[in-house]
This record gives sequence, C-alpha cells and structure tokens, in this order.
Amino acid sequence: MQIEDKKIVVMNYTLTTDDGEVLDQSSDGSFAYLHGADNIIAGLENALTGKVVGDTLNVKVLPDEGYGERNDEMLQVVGKEMFESDDELEVGSQFHAEGPDGQPIMITVAAIEGDNITIDGNHPLAGVNLNFDVSIIDIRDASEEEISHGHVHGPDGHTH
Ligand code: ZN
Repeated sequence: MQIEDKKIVVMNYTLTTDDGEVLDQSSDGSFAYLHGADNIIAGLENALTGKVVGDTLNVKVLPDEGYGERNDEMLQVVGKEMFESDDELEVGSQFHAEGPDGQPIMITVAAIEGDNITIDGNHPLAGVNLNFDVSIIDIRDASEEEISHGHVHGPDGHTH
C-alpha cells in the first residue's frame, strides 16, 4: 500500500530549521493524519505521496509551500490600550487575534517603544525553511467517517 488520498498515514517526524534547531517532533512515538485533506502543509504532503511503510525521507519545504513568506504589511503599530492587560506585554509575547477577514491569527509582539507596540501578524514560521525528517510507520485505508470529517480518528489522532 502506498500513500495516496484517503489513506491514514502514521509516521515519526522531526522538524528543524536550516540551523538545526528542533521546532517540533511527533510526540508519544507517532503522528497520524489523513492524506489529501490539508491536514499537514502542502510541501510535506506532496513529498509523501507514493511513499510506503519503512520509507524514510528528508523533505525541505520552502516558505511558499510552508507558512508563506514574511509580509511587512503584517507589521502594525498600535497603542498599549489595545491590550487588556500589559502584565505579559514583552517582545515575543503571542496573542490570538482576528485577521482582516475575521479568521483567527496569532500575533507576536515585535517591539515596544513607550506606549507604541509593534505587532506582527505573520505566522511565526513564515519565511522559514522547514526540514522534515520523516519515517513512515503505517498506512491504512481511512474509514468513511474519517473521510467525511476530514481527519483521522483515535488512538493516534483526533478524538471527539
Ligand atoms: Zn472526526
């Protein structure tokens, strides 16, 4: 069986930057997802298509197939009063906010100058090359329910 749409893929992965910093890795031994359902970033999903159990691969995902390029227009200076509490206000603090189309986005405090706070709406991994070290552990057919929900169901995946 090879990886294609409507398969559940179980894998181990480690995600590092070009400098070797570990950003993320599969916890509890493995990570499961539904292939072809945008569960994972496009660049990684495309590289996994056609792979079989036991395959290992290194995938470099550039920003245009990852979290996008950094966009300076996503930087904005706002007043301190925009924040409910300034207790945790420091460079690097992250907040959930609403994007221009009402979608949830994560903003990061980029700079603080007096009462002027520069916030950055770029994804924290925008502009970053993503290096995935992947080994394929298992591939199975997705159930009808998983396909209709668009995600994998337990024990390695989503539970309701
Ligand atoms: Zn579900």
